[in-house]
Amino acid sequence: MTRINPEFTNELKKYGAFDPNACYNCGNCTAVCTLSDEQNSFPRKMVRYSVLGLQDDIQTSLDPWLCYYCGECSTTCPREADPGELMMSLRRWLIARYDWTGLSGVLYKSPLASVAAFLVLAALVVWFGISMHFQLDTIMHYGHLFEMAAIAGVFVFILIPNLIHMWWLTVYKSGIRAPVSKYFTTAGNLIVHMFTQKRTLDCEENQIRWFEHFILVLGYLSLLITTVFLDWFSTQSMVIIVLGYLESAVIFIVTFDFIRRRIQKDKEISKHSHPSDWLFVIWLFLMGLTAFGVRLFIDLNIIENNVWIFVIQMIVLVQWALIIVPFGKWTHFLYRSFAMYFHEIIQPD
Ligand code: SF4
Ligand code: SF4
Repeated sequence: MTRINPEFTNELKKYGAFDPNACYNCGNCTAVCTLSDEQNSFPRKMVRYSVLGLQDDIQTSLDPWLCYYCGECSTTCPREADPGELMMSLRRWLIARYDWTGLSGVLYKSPLASVAAFLVLAALVVWFGISMHFQLDTIMHYGHLFEMAAIAGVFVFILIPNLIHMWWLTVYKSGIRAPVSKYFTTAGNLIVHMFTQKRTLDCEENQIRWFEHFILVLGYLSLLITTVFLDWFSTQSMVIIVLGYLESAVIFIVTFDFIRRRIQKDKEISKHSHPSDWLFVIWLFLMGLTAFGVRLFIDLNIIENNVWIFVIQMIVLVQWALIIVPFGKWTHFLYRSFAMYFHEIIQPD
């Protein structure tokens, strides 16, 4: 039996901007959305579900992830109900539903909780630095170990269980039993979606955003490999050193442009910025900038007298690895790719 949550729209407002009472069901948004077809009234179905509080139907749906946020539905809505932002808010709400720890919901709904988490983690890093007497070699060594442990721990204990929960809600509960072989035959598309997010290209307005996003993903993933597995901060290899500089520069240059757009609000998709959006772009910018700075200080032989830069880089990294990756906006990257994959699996052959 479908459960109705009369408080759903109030709950959803905590995840973003949306005025459900403004919608008078005219259908303009469905007419412009390229995802609409005879079976699926996009995004109006989700608007109606939200207004009616059909929470169970929303949490078992992949529709919010299929939306690539071109913003056309919001531009054409005569009532400024902002259905594009509704889809974005639903994605945040879904992340909170998939997350078994419940922390995503807390951090999405309360910017204060995010600030508190940041302060606690920053204090722990400073305390660690003090207890190690700010000896550069020691804190660099433990910093490197932390990176490896955080990646493994976050994936094993948070992200993989959450993905299984997402599969349970959206595939298993749909009642469609796809043959196991389909999970393998469609796996290639999962990788393609994950690295290219090519669905964004369906929107003409998004071409530059797609390209920036694409090189950002490449820069981010390759910097991760360069710092964690190629030990960028300790290597003597000129190739790896230059590679790390390029990757970190790509990250802070591209994210600077993302921040500029959110400030200027020049496109529909930049008009509404949830605190988690700001946290994500600013932190990615700081990740690139501080990593670049640490390596530069090493190469200029001034790091020994300026350990503070490594401590700042650690504060940024710890926040990123323990808050933003497992519970924040970073997870969109993962869930959206898996949503495409699950969507393909449950399609009839
Ligand atoms: S265009 Fe606006 S008012 Fe019309 S159905 Fe869509 S959300 Fe509702
Ligand atoms: S933002 Fe674009 S893709 Fe998403 S529902 Fe609106 S029109 Fe469709």
